[in-house]
Amino acid sequence: MTAPAPIRSVVIVGGGTAGWMAAAALSRLVRTGVSVTLAESDAIGTVGVGEATIPPIRNFNGLLGIDENDFLSKTQGTIKLGIDFIDWTREGHRYTHPFGEFGFDIEGVKFHHFWRKLYAEGKASWIEDYNLCATAQKLGRYTTPVADPASVLSRLTYAYQFDASLYAAYLRAYAETRGVVRTEGKVLDVLLRSIDGHVEAIQLEGDRRIDGELFIDCTGFRGLLIEGALQTGFESWKHWLQCDRAVAVPSANEGTGITPYTRSIARRAGWQWRIPLQHRVGNGYVYCSDDIGDDDAAATLMANLDGQTLRDPMLIKFEAGRRKLAWNRNVVALGLASGFVEPLESTSIHMIQTGVSKLMALLPDRDFSPVDRDEYNRQTQTQMEQVRDFVILHYHANERTDGDLWRRVREMEIPETLRRKIDLFRRRGRFFRYDDELFADSSWIAVLLGQNVMPAGWDPLADAVDPALVRQRLDRIREVFRRAAEAMPRHEDWLARNCPAPTATFTRKTA
Ligand SMILES: Cc1cc2nc3c(=O)[nH]c(=O)nc-3n(C[C@H](O)[C@H](O)[C@H](O)COP(=O)(O)OP(=O)(O)OC[C@H]3O[C@@H](n4cnc5c(N)ncnc54)[C@H](O)[C@@H]3O)c2cc1C
Repeated sequence: MTAPAPIRSVVIVGGGTAGWMAAAALSRLVRTGVSVTLAESDAIGTVGVGEATIPPIRNFNGLLGIDENDFLSKTQGTIKLGIDFIDWTREGHRYTHPFGEFGFDIEGVKFHHFWRKLYAEGKASWIEDYNLCATAQKLGRYTTPVADPASVLSRLTYAYQFDASLYAAYLRAYAETRGVVRTEGKVLDVLLRSIDGHVEAIQLEGDRRIDGELFIDCTGFRGLLIEGALQTGFESWKHWLQCDRAVAVPSANEGTGITPYTRSIARRAGWQWRIPLQHRVGNGYVYCSDDIGDDDAAATLMANLDGQTLRDPMLIKFEAGRRKLAWNRNVVALGLASGFVEPLESTSIHMIQTGVSKLMALLPDRDFSPVDRDEYNRQTQTQMEQVRDFVILHYHANERTDGDLWRRVREMEIPETLRRKIDLFRRRGRFFRYDDELFADSSWIAVLLGQNVMPAGWDPLADAVDPALVRQRLDRIREVFRRAAEAMPRHEDWLARNCPAPTATFTRKTA
């Protein structure tokens, strides 16, 4: 049997975060003789948002061999230890979704069962006190984690907050240095091969044509190839994730300062984000257009900033859902072209990352076997649905009294996959992950408990451990985490010392 012939050319269309992440990762192929070209239009520009991430982004940067301090400095980056959810469960309530685990398991039983038992007896404080990220986050502190599991600092897990356009520029420099060729210009047409409907070439303004074998559609919500040319179809999730617009505006670093976390504040018709970077703060109001007009949404956002605005607000329209096939014929859609689960848990950039990794693992040959494509599509669909369920949980489990949106999402039918998870957790705090699920148990537990989905009981095996020992352990964990967090430098001081951006505007300079 002869080995299938490997592809010789890849054409990436679009130069936003998705396009340049794909180009940076695929630049490895250039060394094997594959040509990698990226076409983008300066006139069209990028979506201009997407600044908060989740911890696996560090693996992506790590695989590229990117120096963390250099990257943070050049992207105005900051550290993210989690998300602070304000007023989500009910008005006046606050909880944290921290990265990293809660406490330590005892005799093979998950920590949260012991916590639940003691909390019911009034002998434990809220679960966040047993998570190092949450403890440091509340104090506005951060330090470089330690790999040695014997050190408490090994429990610190983090992601980044950065300027999306600077991240794309950073990756562009990386990719171009490694042989990716960039072409500037608007794509006017997508040419299909008559024999099998595969994309043959893209036609750019100025009568330029780029031929290719594998095409990667990174054209954002437009989905120029995957939808415009191939008419793949879109599965809408708007009945579950009803927010369909956002207004975004940057503001000066004032007030709360550069916190090592993203803030999400529930509002009558949606929620507001606050993402602190070194030189400014990114803000936005994500809302449902059935519940508030664009002008009112912009006014709400502007009235709730803690620094001066640096630009006019920008309106973005979207629809939550997924492309029916992320890989169709010889086109793989990445980023917004492949679908979007709204930005609440900062998962979009991560989905680009996993899309690129899957593509590398299932790189097609010139015959484009459906075996590779079907596996890619199966995994992508599962991952997107898991993220979708996690985000729906935040909306559905609410006790808010203002606004029709919150009543509707509380009363709606939710996906069966999520219903099962909630029901299992509500009985005895049981939780199971499937198929390499992105969010760890600790993330689900943080949000389930935060949204007041309190288990009625706990794992009976927790009763087999001496209660005095359990109490002692919990008290000790809380104390050790508190002391460790207090000993860390302030987040701003850590940034100023390790990776200051040339134009950083630290609120209290200590460098
Ligand atoms: C309100 C909001 C908030 C978000 N917040 C987060 C967040 O905090 N964290 C997160 O992970 N994700 C977030 N996202 C998602 C994130 O913004 C995207 O996943 C990310 O920016 C990738 O976008 P993209 O590259 O797919 O598309 P875009 O940034 O829109 O890039 C599209 C590219 O295609 C090019 N293009 C389009 N048409 C043509 C044409 N005809 N010819 C040539 N070029 C063309 C454009 O020039 C551009 O280069 C958010 C999204 C929204 C809407």
